[in-house]
Amino acid sequence: MSLQSTSVLVTGSTSGIGQSIAERFVAEGADVVVTGRDATRGRAVARWLDALGPGRCSFLAADLGTLDGPGRLAEAAEERLSGVDVLVNNAGIYKVDGAPLSAADFDEMMNLNVRGAHLLTTALLPRMAERGRGAVVNVTSPVAYRGYPGMAAYAATKGALDMLAKCWAAEFGKSGVRVNALSPGPVMTPGVEKLIGTGEEAPKDVLARTNLVAGRVATGNDISAAVLYLASPEAAYVNGSTLHVDGGMNGVGSLWGTNEDVP
Ligand code: NAP
Repeated sequence: MSLQSTSVLVTGSTSGIGQSIAERFVAEGADVVVTGRDATRGRAVARWLDALGPGRCSFLAADLGTLDGPGRLAEAAEERLSGVDVLVNNAGIYKVDGAPLSAADFDEMMNLNVRGAHLLTTALLPRMAERGRGAVVNVTSPVAYRGYPGMAAYAATKGALDMLAKCWAAEFGKSGVRVNALSPGPVMTPGVEKLIGTGEEAPKDVLARTNLVAGRVATGNDISAAVLYLASPEAAYVNGSTLHVDGGMNGVGSLWGTNEDVP
């Protein structure tokens, strides 16, 4: 699929899932802006992706957890890309823990995962609507659709993102803009490795504790292929939906509890 004249902003794209998504769009010929707080890492990722081509890639620094960061990024990306056609709200943090979260941790997650995406998207959506085209993809999580212990606050942020996508689809759908949510299964990203460790045992542990009937964790490619679809004209009739790219986690139940116990 050629996305040669498509401009794309992917948040949280200097690492993990976001980086895979940015790489996929660059490979399809799009003009991509990657973003994150760490400018040294961000510039290096953008240089690497730009060299891969055939699309272009550049970096804009932003802290989306602050009040003014999302608005400033919206302005800078509109200018850099001469209008943003595709926005992927991927930046997110997960503070998960059996113990109750502190108010500061709760706020940090809400401020980035929900408020940041909200402020950025509401700054860009009216411009997409004016141009009569645009696609937004909110990256959610399987924990937004089922109850999991220790996940309440993180799940609430992702549930909010899911509903934001549906409401924005209702508000802007008639202007030619589509907004969908995508729920990725577990991917062994730097963020996840920080949480559960690295090495061969980490993905096995994830498999044992989840209902991943796919029998493996997800790759960045599994997720980026689906984001590309949702953002492309191939998905012209898909709006206000949630695509579960999760190896079966959402759709398949287990009477026995976990994968490990299933005969
Ligand atoms: P990751 O490897 O930790 O990468 C996070 C990215 O977000 C980095 O580029 C980071 O760059 C950026 N970021 C963090 N805080 C930021 C802030 N305040 N402002 C702007 N950018 C910020 O994460 P990941 O595992 O790829 O997860 C990406 C998304 O997928 C998240 O929304 C997560 O909830 C969701 N998800 C992940 C999984 C999984 O298994 N990995 C599964 C389901 C859903 P800087 O640190 O430089 O800012």
